[in-house]
Amino acid sequence: MIKALLTMDDVSTRNTPAIIDYLEEKNIPVIMFAWGQNIENFRGEAIYALKKGVIIGNHSYTHPHFSEISFEEGVKEIEKCESVLDKLYEEAGVKRIYRPFRFPYGDKGGDNKQKLQEYLSEHGFDKVDDRNIPYPWWKESGLDKDIDTLWTFDFAEYNIRPDSGFTIEDVFKRMNDTNPYSGAALFAPDSYHMLLLHAHDETEEMVPEYYKQILDECLSRGVEFVKPKFLR
Ligand SMILES: [Zn+2]
Repeated sequence: MIKALLTMDDVSTRNTPAIIDYLEEKNIPVIMFAWGQNIENFRGEAIYALKKGVIIGNHSYTHPHFSEISFEEGVKEIEKCESVLDKLYEEAGVKRIYRPFRFPYGDKGGDNKQKLQEYLSEHGFDKVDDRNIPYPWWKESGLDKDIDTLWTFDFAEYNIRPDSGFTIEDVFKRMNDTNPYSGAALFAPDSYHMLLLHAHDETEEMVPEYYKQILDECLSRGVEFVKPKFLR
């Protein structure tokens, strides 16, 4: 059996409501991670997601590399996004229960990693339940202890850009790679994944409905999407 929790980064975007509608139609639960700045640009789209019951987590305010900024700057990034999210939930009339966090680029802050984890732990951020992830490297790297939300498989579809040479076929190749250079093989039996996809309008322009192509393939290969759960 292949189980997976879908996460979708860099919301909100123009295309976010269409993505939500598709996920709802296919009964695919999701955690979305938002930049504070993107919410300010596409506020109605983010409210649409909240009203549909989607959990939106913190993905910083301007999406910096946390290893390239100071601890204090990192905290400011997180707090500024928190206050945008608090206001957004309030405006949507939705009670904010869970506060997951994801570092931009999965960059956990280099030398500040430990301090940032302590900050997240002491400020009410929620760890996504990762107890079913079976890959030895998850625990060996200490990811089972971290509060932030990493992933076990990255579709890498954000690489589809004009002149990048990277196409949707490359995404499918990656999905079928039985020995990927990072993360775990997507369709291996007895998998349990945290999947990383993005809500980029730029990708939508290059490959309309790219997320349907990718997720329909997952469904047809027997991936069972699970609801987000948290450890508190
Ligand atoms: Zn991101």
